[in-house]
Amino acid sequence: MTSPKLNKILIVPIYPVDFSLVLTLVPSIREIFKCDVILDNTNHLNLSSAYDSSRYQFNSTKIISILSEKFNNFNGKVLGVISVDLFIPVLTYVFGEAQLGGKISVVSTFRLNEIAYGFQENRKLTEERLLKEAVHELGHNFGLLHCENYLCVMHPSTSVEEVDIKSPYFCNDCYEKLFWQISSKFNDYHDGK
Ligand SMILES: [Zn+2]
Ligand SMILES: [Zn+2]
Repeated sequence: MTSPKLNKILIVPIYPVDFSLVLTLVPSIREIFKCDVILDNTNHLNLSSAYDSSRYQFNSTKIISILSEKFNNFNGKVLGVISVDLFIPVLTYVFGEAQLGGKISVVSTFRLNEIAYGFQENRKLTEERLLKEAVHELGHNFGLLHCENYLCVMHPSTSVEEVDIKSPYFCNDCYEKLFWQISSKFNDYHDGK
């Protein structure tokens, strides 16, 4: 298989967020996507326009627009990681959202933390859940749709229990599609050589 090294993933902590939690994503995402992964901790975004004061939540689609404007010139995928509660108008909440086949995605730790369900924090579990939802949203960025295999990371999750059932990895079918995407892009760069 050709090297997919020309793909880059930028991870952007959006404050307030637990930075050490975001940091745990870097080696795992690098391993799963076989991409360069960069953590950009220098951008402090103003999300006030994404806040809905009647729901006490942030509109994830608006956060995606804010990220999209800010990272307009970045050549790769951009994953924002945040700790506030996210929604899209038709749903009570979302764990994250992504532009299908696009550049930007966002994921929140809010409902991945046991504290949200009245339990004590379980750090390891939050890390595992965050990785699964981050890989899922990035999968959408690489053009992958939802998968019926309930162990596959592209299986949709409407509750945290469903997040816990699936793995952080792609099933064989999704993995093939992902690497076809990544390596076809690689070949584009080498056209005419
Ligand atoms: Zn999805
Ligand atoms: Zn799959």
